[in-house]
Amino acid sequence: MNRSQQIQQLQSTHHWDIIIIGGGATGLGAAVDSAARGYKTLLVEQYDFGKGTSSRSTKLIHGGVRYLQQGNIRLVRDALRERGLLLKNAPHLAHPLKLVMPSYRWYETLYYGLGLKVYNFLSGKLSLGKSEMLSIKKTQQYIKGLDGKRLSGGVAYYDGQFDDARLCTTLALTAVDVSATVLNYAKVTSLIRENEKVKGVVIEDSINNETYEARGTIVVNATGVFVDEVLKMDDDGLEKAVSPSQGIHIVVDKKFFPGEQALFIPRTDDGRVLFAVPFHDKVIIGTTDTSVEQISLEPVAKEEEVDFVIKHFNRYVHTGLQRSDVKSVFAGLRPLIKIPGKKKTAVLPRDHTIWESKGGMINISGGKWTTYRKMAQEVILKSHYAGGLAYTRCQTETMKLHGWIKKPDHEDPLAYYGSDAAAIRYLQHQGYSQTIHPNLHYTIAEVMWAVGNEMAMTVEDVLSRRTRALILDAKAAIEAAPLVADIMMKEMNKDEAWKQQQLEAFYKVAEGYILR
Ligand SMILES: Cc1cc2nc3c(=O)[nH]c(=O)nc-3n(C[C@H](O)[C@H](O)[C@H](O)COP(=O)(O)OP(=O)(O)OC[C@H]3O[C@@H](n4cnc5c(N)ncnc54)[C@H](O)[C@@H]3O)c2cc1C
Repeated sequence: MNRSQQIQQLQSTHHWDIIIIGGGATGLGAAVDSAARGYKTLLVEQYDFGKGTSSRSTKLIHGGVRYLQQGNIRLVRDALRERGLLLKNAPHLAHPLKLVMPSYRWYETLYYGLGLKVYNFLSGKLSLGKSEMLSIKKTQQYIKGLDGKRLSGGVAYYDGQFDDARLCTTLALTAVDVSATVLNYAKVTSLIRENEKVKGVVIEDSINNETYEARGTIVVNATGVFVDEVLKMDDDGLEKAVSPSQGIHIVVDKKFFPGEQALFIPRTDDGRVLFAVPFHDKVIIGTTDTSVEQISLEPVAKEEEVDFVIKHFNRYVHTGLQRSDVKSVFAGLRPLIKIPGKKKTAVLPRDHTIWESKGGMINISGGKWTTYRKMAQEVILKSHYAGGLAYTRCQTETMKLHGWIKKPDHEDPLAYYGSDAAAIRYLQHQGYSQTIHPNLHYTIAEVMWAVGNEMAMTVEDVLSRRTRALILDAKAAIEAAPLVADIMMKEMNKDEAWKQQQLEAFYKVAEGYILR
């Protein structure tokens, strides 16, 4: 995947079938679906693929036990099916994960135990494993440090776990494999109209400081929490469709939560669920649900959110976690669809909505990572009807994503690259096997690979989304940045001024991931 080549394709194509705005889970999934059906497809992302919400999730591919409690069987069944399909189509990026829910009253064990049997039943043939009710002893064996005094047992069940930003890169690579054109650092600043209809976009390329025009039959707005900004370009009289809700996570060493399984607390003080999930060599703990007015590509965790997460984790797991133990903190914004009269975002639905706006633009928002493929299928089907495009069948149910291999070894740090790992290993053998920092497992070879093959344009792209250094250990990522900038400068034929500017920009972003 090479940026200059993508620009060449953009400039030499006079008409696209479908133009997609937004390079998160929703837009990238739509680009894969659209191009795989044979539609001439362009996707543009204002920053980097996955820069928005899609790199800031809890990293779970799940049916949503909470939605079962709410009685939303259809959402759960659909999500469980999608969970199964993703694990088959991208086994290098998603794998089964055992989750353990401690319970403190006998009837809770029974209630959740039976509920999780239904959950497993709904997954049908795509089940990841049976749920089981646990004794006090077994629950404590799974979760080290659990308070035994009040415990009455627990329930264990399975969901999927994945690397969200790596899945974004993989979807971009898959889209290119099936002949889509995808471009990062390409912001849509206005829409092109013909006879009142939206027929294209004006794009600003912030790497080359160029402006391009792209014309097409259908424009899809898949910009997450920014959906209203783009909608306004089509119809500025509309009320806001999205109610953003912030969720934060803290990242800590595994010693605070040892083992391979995850912790699931079904009900916190504000009615949310709390997870502790092993991720690479660390543990991610979260999340919160805070309604916010301002949207930003770099949302900042509020003090009270951090305190909430630490307090609740410590209430269940007694391993002495303190603020100073936090390696990184990150925040993301859920693009929840508004319901008139409901202010509390925790009660807004997690389902997605697709609608056509005044000029014929197709808009999509809401949903979750787990259901990205189904959302893509639906939005492209809607685009086909709206644009009068020739009908072709959706291909993605059984489509293997870029890098697919049969049995990845998830202990291998290069497992997330799938079949591309072989090329990275070759680079490592060529003398590029040095790690970029003593506390990070990433090597120089992975930086070179990201620049040469994964369209990484900035130090932040490499440290935050091609590797996950920034969310795994923000301080180590900051210390690794000069070496990474140096490698990139050489690989990209840039000069010292570029390197300095890159470092300054990265430090500014990275500061927000460190708890003071
Ligand atoms: C805290 C948290 C935890 C979550 N955990 C999970 C989980 O464990 N499992 C799960 O299934 N789901 C989870 N989700 C939900 C999931 O992450 C989101 O539903 C999903 O990532 C949304 O993707 P998106 O593509 O719609 O939005 P985004 O990822 O935000 O993508 C939209 C993109 O559009 C781009 N854009 C905006 N304006 C323009 C423009 N003018 N021109 C070009 N590009 C533009 C933005 O830069 C952005 O990259 C979680 C969400 C949050 C917030």
